[in-house]
Amino acid sequence: CGIVGYIGDREATPILIDGLKSLEYRGYDSAGVSIHNEAIMSIKTKGRLKRLEERLTEEPLQGTIGIGHTRWATHGEPSDVNSHPHLNGSCTISLVHNGIIENYMNLKEELEAMGQAFLSETDTEVAVQLIDYYYRESHDLLDAVLQAVDRIDGSYAFGVMCHEEPDKLIAVRKDSPLVIGVGKGENFIASDIPAILEHTRDIYLLEDKEVAIVTKEDITIMDTTKQVIQRDVFNVTWDI
Ligand code: GLU
Repeated sequence: CGIVGYIGDREATPILIDGLKSLEYRGYDSAGVSIHNEAIMSIKTKGRLKRLEERLTEEPLQGTIGIGHTRWATHGEPSDVNSHPHLNGSCTISLVHNGIIENYMNLKEELEAMGQAFLSETDTEVAVQLIDYYYRESHDLLDAVLQAVDRIDGSYAFGVMCHEEPDKLIAVRKDSPLVIGVGKGENFIASDIPAILEHTRDIYLLEDKEVAIVTKEDITIMDTTKQVIQRDVFNVTWDI
């Protein structure tokens, strides 16, 4: 039910956890993070953020790019396996999702028929499996994400990262909120402004069917045909 992503020079894990804490009011049953540092490492657990923090103390994930999630289960019971992030089989693509993929059953059958193995009972996993499928054809994360969302019916805010393109996060949404926070030499994604307000007051509000490529230095917003959209920065004047 909450998404936070970070790319910059600071350790990502504490930024993700603090951000997720400020989204706790939205409700959730499990939480997880993926951090990129040579490989994508993930920890995800059923239960409170406190439990995730305990797991991260036992097994710290260090790195300066990452995505985090608090889940409110809609498809598949609350469990470690069903928690986000979801990864492809080779753990080279990691994805967090808020929303509901309505045609996930059809997509899952289609992907299974092509030999993709599923680990969870979530609707979300079809999104990462689809991106994986298209990525293996094009080796271009943006194209793979756009091809995948073209197949998906329902509501989504996705945050995606890829081992082979470790310089970026991709954010895309439809009928679920997602904002981009503009920092200096670092940038953020989040499902709501309070999650990143501690770090920046300059926000891009992503609109339906828009995709953002977020690197340390740049944010590019496009429509699903890759036409670049010029968006004014929204300056947040209120406090939490
Ligand atoms: N539908 C997804 C799931 O059940 C995402 C739920 C959410 O928005 O947290 O895993």
